[in-house]
Amino acid sequence: MNSILIIYTGGTIGMIQDEKTGSLKSFDFDSLLKEVPELKKINATIDSISFENPIDSSDMGPENWLEIAQIIFDNYNQHDGFVVLHGSDTMSYTASALSFILENLNKPVILTGSQLPIGSIRTDAKENLLTAIEIANTKINNIPTVPEVAVYFEYSLYRGNRSIKVSAEEFEAFKSPNYPLLAEAGVNLKFNKSVIHQTNGKDLFLNKKLDNHIATLKMFPGITQQQVNATLSIPNLRAVVLETFGAGNATTESWFINLIDEAIQKGIIVLNISQCIGGSVDLGKYATSSDFLRIGVINGKDMTFEAAVTKLMYLLGTNYSISQIKELLQQSLRGEITL
Ligand code: ASP
Repeated sequence: MNSILIIYTGGTIGMIQDEKTGSLKSFDFDSLLKEVPELKKINATIDSISFENPIDSSDMGPENWLEIAQIIFDNYNQHDGFVVLHGSDTMSYTASALSFILENLNKPVILTGSQLPIGSIRTDAKENLLTAIEIANTKINNIPTVPEVAVYFEYSLYRGNRSIKVSAEEFEAFKSPNYPLLAEAGVNLKFNKSVIHQTNGKDLFLNKKLDNHIATLKMFPGITQQQVNATLSIPNLRAVVLETFGAGNATTESWFINLIDEAIQKGIIVLNISQCIGGSVDLGKYATSSDFLRIGVINGKDMTFEAAVTKLMYLLGTNYSISQIKELLQQSLRGEITL
């Protein structure tokens, strides 16, 4: 029989309403599992580990990603798949980060959560939890069907580093506009095998160093020189995610291009991704992005913001040179970018 490990980190799924204040707070994990007697019917042994202090995912940071990754690493050989229960707010960041931290992952790591707590009448938590476990438990010829980091929410399975949270209200809270669904859950679980990673037979390796000396610069019409200058002057800054318009465009004002140019010459990496949730940066397509090509802005193509930020943290934590990092940013390391 397979064995699945549930890792409970916090989030709405395991919260109850504080009687005095009315706000949602975490409650203990064993009580959470009691809410789902159906777990006993799953054809797998189910073990669980909980964060000592479960957190709202808005409090998650690189140390928490590494804690989750370490739990997976320490329990890797004893389990066939992993389900990470996580708040939905930053689930796509954690999924993206885990995809880079867990190198040579050959088993399923499925993140899920819910919009309503598991104890509430109309909760989406039970279906999300049970199907995430089913997915982590699925094998064909003893090979896991989804040997990668994925997000399961409301009948859809997304590649983790392609997912984004799009709604604070709908049960269908996630999308992956630039990559097909890995699976759909209807009466049957339908896997889209041709777009899912395959196992590579190598040993799992943990990339434990993440460097968060990065900043983001989101373009808007009317952005001031002071703001751009202030961002690019942050001490010890190593990289900037530049969120541009449409296919990678920004103002052509010379003060702007000059500031970006100076930053690049100082060794700061400038990674261009689009504010549009679908489609890709295409440097040089319009005159408003051709200066970027000339001064060495890196083309982030169709990467999500979440993937861009976590890929930078991972690459800056390695010993690669700046030019190697620039090269790797434009390659697909974990299926996060369309080439
Ligand atoms: N604020 C919660 C969190 O992300 C929302 C959720 O769980 O869906 O932890």
